[in-house]
Amino acid sequence: MAKALFIIDVQNDFTEGGALGVAGGAAVALGISQYLARNPEGYDVVIASRDWHDADNDNGGHFATNEAPDFATTWPVHCVAGTPGAEYHSALDTNRIDVHVKKGQGKPAYSIYQGTTDDGETVPQLLDRLDVTDIDVVGIATDYCVRASALDAVSDQRQVRVLTDLTAAVAEASRVAAVAELAEAGVDVQESVSLPQTEADA
Ligand SMILES: [Zn+2]
Repeated sequence: MAKALFIIDVQNDFTEGGALGVAGGAAVALGISQYLARNPEGYDVVIASRDWHDADNDNGGHFATNEAPDFATTWPVHCVAGTPGAEYHSALDTNRIDVHVKKGQGKPAYSIYQGTTDDGETVPQLLDRLDVTDIDVVGIATDYCVRASALDAVSDQRQVRVLTDLTAAVAEASRVAAVAELAEAGVDVQESVSLPQTEADA
């Protein structure tokens, strides 16, 4: 039995000043780093995803190229592979990341489960190989990629928590809906600061 942390899409384009910047994104990057510093032994494996889109096409209609984005199914151009916008935010301590997952090459991909590692392993293959039973999910955005990743993990028979104070959302209405949907699906929705101290010190 092993415990994993998913860090979802803490990238420059999803934080303030980015192409699709989410309010509170930079604070989430710093908060995750501080949380990991407080919990040096808290996870057996830390897995981080990055949205990693093609530059030369609309990525399966994911990029709004001929009309204004609706910010639900179409988006401004963001996280193009190899550009500064696709890099991790500078406040995220990348030394703590054990496995890097990329997703969205040529298509929409909200969930980390749609990505692969640099070695070509899928996320369920990785989790099974490491015997991961428990997953905490943090990152951006609560109402899109965090939501989709947590729902996939619970469908994949893992015990899943979303630590909401270490997430940031695109919009308040969709954040509220996502939190309700996650709870309904069996995801434990709570704040990292409310975790028992013994666990935080574990
Ligand atoms: Zn995307």
